[in-house]
Amino acid sequence: MGKVYLIGAGPGDPDLLTVKAARLLQRATIVLHDSLVSREVLQLIPREAEIIDVGKRAGQKLLTQDEINQLLISYANRSGRSLDRSSAESPNVHPPAKLTSHTEVIRLKGGDPTVFGRAGEEIEALRRANIPFEIVPGITAALGAAAAAGISLTDRRAASQIVITTYSRGSDRATADPFAVTPNVDWAAISSSTTLVLYMPGADYAEVSRRLVEAGQPEDLPCVIVSNATTPHQQIRWTTVSALASEAKLPAPALLIVGRVASHEIEEIIATRWAANRKEPQVKPATIS
Ligand code: SAH
Repeated sequence: MGKVYLIGAGPGDPDLLTVKAARLLQRATIVLHDSLVSREVLQLIPREAEIIDVGKRAGQKLLTQDEINQLLISYANRSGRSLDRSSAESPNVHPPAKLTSHTEVIRLKGGDPTVFGRAGEEIEALRRANIPFEIVPGITAALGAAAAAGISLTDRRAASQIVITTYSRGSDRATADPFAVTPNVDWAAISSSTTLVLYMPGADYAEVSRRLVEAGQPEDLPCVIVSNATTPHQQIRWTTVSALASEAKLPAPALLIVGRVASHEIEEIIATRWAANRKEPQVKPATIS
């Protein structure tokens, strides 16, 4: 019986892996990874190891979550239920007959596995199958992006809480992030001292901007878009909630940090704005879907 390691690959820079993650990757014999994991991180895996991309490419879903769960179980435990999907349909998946058990099965996810990473479903499947597992945390994109932008998410002069959330338009399937869930942003919990980190903002910044304004965010509240944080393709765009609407889209993966901390002029921002005049939301809480 093997053990499954759910490992966070961090936001991209391989130097941001934990020592434990790097050690496990360097002795890996089987790795199942998402498409978000950077090439540089994958290069740490020995050449002889079996590497399976269970992510999604060019909008095409390679494997369902259930199939991924079953693969993890099968690799860790020969008696696990095998896949019934043909290998022709999923070229990256080896036919069940070829499955060999491994003492360590690595499930590698971008950022931290427990933040918008579907770790919950995999943990539940492993528990049900009595497969031992361990979570190895990674640096989630919000932290990589804040570091890249050189800002403090909880700068005590301007922020008292961080809300990590996601936004995606279910109707826009062509551009919706494939990882997207149906989110419910609790706007009532967002105050002028909240730093909002919006994962998977989607392609339509105008829509995001409109929703933020409707939810009571001041139009000149700072906002920073960070694309490909901690990678050689990193891009940072400083803007505001209203100016966001006309910003050109940055390449995925990207996220938004919205709040008074999302600026290098934090002293001025605290002194001049939003001491007591935060607008009331025009929408009821939890209406984003
Ligand atoms: N488990 C991951 C998040 C997966 S959801 C984590 O903890 O970071 C995918 C979203 O994460 C992307 O749409 C994007 O919003 C964000 N993301 C991941 N890597 C990123 C990066 N290097 N730079 C900016 N955003 C990133």
